Parts: sequence; structure tokens; C-alpha cells
Amino acid sequence: MNRKKAVFLDRDGTIVVHEPYLSSPDQLKLLPNAIEGIRLFKESGYLVIVITNQSGIARGFFDEERLTLIHKKLMSILKDEGIEIDDIYYCPHHAEGIVEPYKVDCDCRKPKPKMLLNAAKQHNIDLTQSLMIGDSEVDMLAGKNAGCTCVLIKNDCNNTSIAPIVDTDYVVKDLLEAAKIFT
Ligand SMILES: [Mg+2]
Ligand SMILES: [Zn+2]
Repeated sequence: MNRKKAVFLDRDGTIVVHEPYLSSPDQLKLLPNAIEGIRLFKESGYLVIVITNQSGIARGFFDEERLTLIHKKLMSILKDEGIEIDDIYYCPHHAEGIVEPYKVDCDCRKPKPKMLLNAAKQHNIDLTQSLMIGDSEVDMLAGKNAGCTCVLIKNDCNNTSIAPIVDTDYVVKDLLEAAKIFT
């Protein structure tokens, strides 16, 4: 069977407005053109998979049950738009966390590529045909480490106010602009 292509999406600052340690489904606010961009990727045959660091769990700001509720809400918002996300992978860990058993220096937190590699295995994905899209350097590094093409989202709504990011192949303002390049 032919391997599939995927677009891996960071969550905060890429699909939804970045809220520090977003801990309630009611805080979810989609970024401009996110739905339109995801729709275009889906229509063009990409799997759409969310890859997100959620160290708020290790830090004790919310638990996995709460995160599941948040992700259910995100999926239902998208479903109302006729879009189905193929999967969501998250890393709940942080070495400086306070909650066991999440207080570990894990092998899945971005910039490590483990979540993308797991997704590739589980969904039969060709990483060299796939994209990592995100708003921070760890997203770009995780994508590079997995062998994907990397797209940085840079706009007024996200936290890309940091120093220039080198490991990126494209810079766009939102998911729709990204989708138009690759579809
Ligand atoms: Mg982000
Ligand atoms: Zn982890």
C-alpha cells in the first residue's frame, strides 16, 4: 500500500490562538484562516495530525482528562465545519514538572521527533512527503528531525516574536497561505 502524506500541525499559535497553558475548552479560539487551510489540505489528500507539547500537565495546571475535553471540543468545532482531524498526539511531560509520572526528561517533547515518528508508523505516512507547520523553533526542529518540510507561521496572533528561526523552509502568515503552496 502506498504511504500517505501528512501535514503535522502544532496546536497553540498555529490552529488556535495561543493562550498560556490553555486549560478549558471555552478558551479555544481558532486563528484566522485555520479552518480554510485545514480544509484545503484535507481536500488534497493530506492526513491532518496535531502534534502538541502540553507540559501544563507535568506542571500541574491541568490533567489529561481536561486535555481530552479540550481536544474533543477542538474536533467538534472542526467537525461542524465538515473537517475531520486524523489524530492528535501530545506530550504531557516536562523535566521540571511537579506532577508524577509526567516529571521526566521524555523522548517525545518537541523538538524531538518522536510524536511524528509514532504518527508515521501508526498512519503509514511518508515523512519525506509530509509537512510540519508551527509557530515556534521547536516545531521546525521536530519537523527537520523527522525529515519533513517545515513551514513557520508568523503573524500578530501567535508568539513568533522570537529571534529568527533558521530551520524553516517556508514562512507564511496562516494555514491557508501554507495550504495554497502545497495543494
Ligand atoms: Mg505553538
Ligand atoms: Zn513527552
